[in-house]
Amino acid sequence: MNSFVDVAAMVRAWGADGGAVYLVGAGPGDPELLTLRAARLLERADVVVYDHLVGDGVLALVGARAERIYVGKERARHSVPQERINAMLVDLARAGRSVVRLKGGDPFVFGRGGEELQALAAAGVPFEVVPGITAACGVSAYAGIPLTHRDCAHSCVVVTGHLKDGSCNLDWQALARPGQTVVIYMGLSGLETICTQLAAHGLGADWPAAVVGNGTLAGQRVVAGTLGTLAARVAEAGLASPCLTIVGEVVRLREELAWFGAGAPVGRRRPAPVL
Ligand code: SAH
Repeated sequence: MNSFVDVAAMVRAWGADGGAVYLVGAGPGDPELLTLRAARLLERADVVVYDHLVGDGVLALVGARAERIYVGKERARHSVPQERINAMLVDLARAGRSVVRLKGGDPFVFGRGGEELQALAAAGVPFEVVPGITAACGVSAYAGIPLTHRDCAHSCVVVTGHLKDGSCNLDWQALARPGQTVVIYMGLSGLETICTQLAAHGLGADWPAAVVGNGTLAGQRVVAGTLGTLAARVAEAGLASPCLTIVGEVVRLREELAWFGAGAPVGRRRPAPVL
């Protein structure tokens, strides 16, 4: 680890022009799930640099005078290379602007937030991190699936299925444990492999699993089943991305606890928002 701090660059960035980068988590979709800090910064920013997972509801909170720069990435379709994004953030802050770098969920959970901060630190640009509700927490809450429960899940593991070469090769033995919930951040391309491998590594074809599409948003859809049935059910339902996969006995609690969206029993469905 290099502990060298470029003091001259820090002074340039802080003193002369006051530019800084705020790395802000936008949460999983519903703008009501933003932190107060995030909402305030969005209102006051000079520039907002955002990804494809940041929805219209959150962008509606960006102040009218702010410049908006879309640098969205989708699997195998990188619109702006990571190095260019890093350089852009440095340049904008050095020009004295207050930059919000807005990312879906939490910037430090599968969000490359660490990489961007490393570039800022190396350039001596001041920054602040504003955590957001990560998909595992927000989406499971809106799906009525607690991630832990004293009866059936004493640990929860979050993993991403994307590898750089496009394959999906996880530590199946470590994931396939009773008493554990597994949350997988990825689209649907690896779903069949995930279900087959987890079943084969000890959980069996009857182990509960679910996929949540568009979690926390008006179009949220939940498809629940077992490791043996889930992939076919999801294909049949035609879920749209983003999708989060949750594997574990906690999935069954949804039958009692679903409260949001079309899948919830009418009597338990959340009333219209009061705000
Ligand atoms: N930093 C983000 C994760 C980025 S990785 C966070 O903390 O949430 C992108 C993956 O997150 C998607 O492929 C999907 O698996 C998951 N995801 C993000 N938002 C989601 C949503 N609203 N519904 C379902 N899955 C979501």
